[in-house]
Amino acid sequence: MSTPAPRPGILDIDPYVAGDSDTPGAARIIKLSSNECALGPSPKAITAFREAGNHLYRYPDSAATELRAAIAGEYGLDAVKIVCGNGSDELLTLLAQAYAGPGDEVLFSEHGFLVYPIIARFAGAAPVVAPECGLTVDVDALLDKVTAKTRIVFVANPGNPTGSYLPVTEIVRLHEGLPGHVLLVLDGAYAEYVTVDDYSPGGDLVNANENVVMTRTFSKIYGLSGLRLGWCYAPSAAVDVLNRVRGPFNVSGPAQAAAVAAIADTAHIEKVRAENETWRAWTSRQLSAMGLDVAPSVTNFVTVRFPGDPAHNAEAANAFLVAEGILPRRIANYGLPDSLRITIGTEAEMRELAEVLSRFMEKP
Ligand SMILES: *Cc1c(COP(=O)(O)O)cnc(C)c1O
Repeated sequence: MSTPAPRPGILDIDPYVAGDSDTPGAARIIKLSSNECALGPSPKAITAFREAGNHLYRYPDSAATELRAAIAGEYGLDAVKIVCGNGSDELLTLLAQAYAGPGDEVLFSEHGFLVYPIIARFAGAAPVVAPECGLTVDVDALLDKVTAKTRIVFVANPGNPTGSYLPVTEIVRLHEGLPGHVLLVLDGAYAEYVTVDDYSPGGDLVNANENVVMTRTFSKIYGLSGLRLGWCYAPSAAVDVLNRVRGPFNVSGPAQAAAVAAIADTAHIEKVRAENETWRAWTSRQLSAMGLDVAPSVTNFVTVRFPGDPAHNAEAANAFLVAEGILPRRIANYGLPDSLRITIGTEAEMRELAEVLSRFMEKP
């Protein structure tokens, strides 16, 4: 008997594994597994979301006009080049579907975001991986892997799960080395957390070129992961493509309303950024003092390498933390089996984390 079968390649996809959010029997949970915002969204965003509940019988604005204007105003961008999506994951997926297919290659780096191989295969294209150097994207290694078949290069800048970043000069060098037919997608999910001054998420590069797209999200610093809202900044031709293939009502009304309010509350975002900076530095110092190897990070998470001995390796640390209700992220599937990725939480959460980890490191 014949049965329906998906297109070739679909069953080669390893499903995305989300961060743990619960563990049985724990008195309290400290979730540090998904890089969510420690302080949550602006209270004004929650109020706007609730108010939007009065209009649920209406379809949302298909063009997200008010939201795109708010984003453009906040980031100094051109609203006509913005497309909103149901999470930036949706926009990344649509870009892969629209620009790559069977026989094509989609390129990204060794410890790149695990959504990239999924969406490459979903499009029928071959994922191609370039090595990283010191947990950082290596521009020369990426350029080495470009072939006539390359259609898209995905670069998360800053990177997840590494927390590292490439300065704008390196991104420009990468772009200059790419043939014009290759789309460079700069995934700036953590852009708002970055405070170093040689970083740029890529808006200028989009404005100056036909083959660069920047994706952004409300899931990280804005604390709206649960609403599913992302956006991209793209050349007019790519905007036209995305507007042809996206769902007409891909961003819900409550999400649009909450995001407009979240953008307006710049004081909240500044507070989140400053707190993150303080507790990332504190956490990095504490964990380093315990003998752990904390990778430098410009984001709201740190990647921590554990010793090799079975009593103190990453698996043992994960089990120890989970038993105490603290949930980090294992990243063996990112090629980092000896490390855990830990989101920067609140002061209280980071103090608990440090206390539990120091007990773990001191045990025989
Ligand atoms: C969290 C994250 C995203 C955001 O995904 P959304 O679909 O917008 O929630 C995108 N890229 C990277 C690298 C991320 O870590």
